[in-house]
Amino acid sequence: MLTGVKVLLLGGDARQLEVIHKLCELNAQVTICGFDQKKELHPRAVAVELDIRSFEDLDALILPAVGTDDDGFIHTVFSSESLQLTKEYLLALPNHCTIYTGIAKSYLKQLCNDSKYRLVELFERDDVAIYNSIPTAEGALMMAIQHTDITIHRSNSMVLGFGRTGVTMARTLQALGSNVYLGVRRSEQYARAYEMGFNPFYTKDLEQFVGNIDLLFNTIPTMIITAQIIEKLQKSTVIIDLATKPGGTDFHFAEARGLKAILAPGLPGIVAPRTAGLLLADCLSQLIHTELTMRRDLR
Ligand code: NAP
Repeated sequence: MLTGVKVLLLGGDARQLEVIHKLCELNAQVTICGFDQKKELHPRAVAVELDIRSFEDLDALILPAVGTDDDGFIHTVFSSESLQLTKEYLLALPNHCTIYTGIAKSYLKQLCNDSKYRLVELFERDDVAIYNSIPTAEGALMMAIQHTDITIHRSNSMVLGFGRTGVTMARTLQALGSNVYLGVRRSEQYARAYEMGFNPFYTKDLEQFVGNIDLLFNTIPTMIITAQIIEKLQKSTVIIDLATKPGGTDFHFAEARGLKAILAPGLPGIVAPRTAGLLLADCLSQLIHTELTMRRDLR
């Protein structure tokens, strides 16, 4: 239970509704801001204004999947009011307060660094990233189906990157009967991809392998599908770039060449907000509980 723990959730999408529900059920004192257009929230969740007083005795401040934008604005789908997290608000937090988010852009990192608050980026954790890769792969499949006129079965697909998202994406395609090429950069990944029945290759040799690909999924967060690579693709190849904005594709060149290239951020929140929210809620409640236990042990 999280009895006595004071938490403020600032903005977000449907995933945060699961977090609110779970924390309320665990008896935390939950305040929320940026949810005024959402009806039927948990009756124990208390709506507050964006006001310094709402920050004064918090144990945890919970921000959305992408904490803030580059100017401190917080994405919120359940309010028309804009929420901007500034230094003044953070300075009102007690020293022990932890700030949780999915991933933090430099604005939030700097703010927490300057004000010495602990920032936890949930998507940096392997467990969360692996669970999150499941709705991501399902969302990417949905896009692939929407944007092609062929089946995944018997298609030639390619996944770039053998990390937490890449592995799930590749296995999902394989399970549907696609012939999957896997771009890796380390020899142990090459061996593992081979063992798993994929067609591995090194990303430095990408150019040699793209010629017959129907579906190209990128998870590498750096420019990798360059103009030079796009030149080698068939006109019918569909690129689905999963890497964080701005992705790893030369989108201008792809468009100029008439290829479909789609940057697809935030898929878990779009295709499976409830599952993705439950996963965040479980992880957050465990982390807050651990923190609470540690603080009590120190007293
Ligand atoms: P990850 O586990 O770190 O995997 C990234 C992969 O890219 C690793 O295999 C890494 O190789 C490889 N890589 C990185 N830089 C490279 C380079 N210069 N050349 C070749 N390979 C390189 O990350 P992840 O959790 O899978 O996430 C991948 C991306 O997807 C991130 O940008 C993440 O934000 C994004 N994402 C998007 C969604 C969505 O809805 N679109 C959902 C979840 C995640 P090494 O293993 O050798 O480091």
